[in-house]
Amino acid sequence: MPRAPKVHPLPDPEVARAFRRRLHRWFRAHGRDLPWRRTRDPYRILVSELMLQQTQVSRVLDYYARFLERFPDLPTLAKARPTRVREAWHGLGYYARARNLHALARRVTRADGVIPDEPDTLRTLPGVGAYTAGAVASFAYEKRAALVDTNVARVLHRVFAPDAHPKSGPGLKRLWAIAEAILPRTGRASWTHNQAIMELGALVCTARAPRCTVCPVRTHCATYAATGDVQAGRRTAAE
Ligand code: SF4
Repeated sequence: MPRAPKVHPLPDPEVARAFRRRLHRWFRAHGRDLPWRRTRDPYRILVSELMLQQTQVSRVLDYYARFLERFPDLPTLAKARPTRVREAWHGLGYYARARNLHALARRVTRADGVIPDEPDTLRTLPGVGAYTAGAVASFAYEKRAALVDTNVARVLHRVFAPDAHPKSGPGLKRLWAIAEAILPRTGRASWTHNQAIMELGALVCTARAPRCTVCPVRTHCATYAATGDVQAGRRTAAE
């Protein structure tokens, strides 16, 4: 007889609510004051998101400020010569991001000059994948949009789905489904939630040295429950 497919339930709504409560409280107390968290300007959010792709926050901070001094808005960037954009990006690496940002600015400016607020439309723009589309919709427009980057995938994997490998297609698909399922109802609360879960992955539930003893969501964490020690996350597939 064929074996029934394995069912992967999504987090129970009550569990999701309790998880969010703890996570958001922790974020309000411990979240970093970063410049892109002080704005809802879609252009500034977009610049920060593209800069942060594969680059650490500490490295991005200077570049972000300098880039915005030189190109304070989308039309200014759209008009700039490619060499000027490349100069402003020099040292940050992955220049395809600068090229994409410049192409995006030109395309949006040629249209109506407004950066879209829907993830599906955002994804049609150069350099904007599923994560960045969710980030711009959530962080700039406070839309109720899920997002999964490396940090979020690691947290969701360890807390809710230790059997879902975050680097496999099906595993990642499941983590996106979990991210959707645990989103708060409102866009405003989703802003906090998305920032908080990314921050937890950056500061506490790190890849190599998860700080489980100070983790605000350890009572919900399947990996912690299974291994019960500070280095719980080290033995997961997220490394
Ligand atoms: S308890 Fe540990 S493994 Fe679980 S989410 Fe917190 S830091 Fe990560």
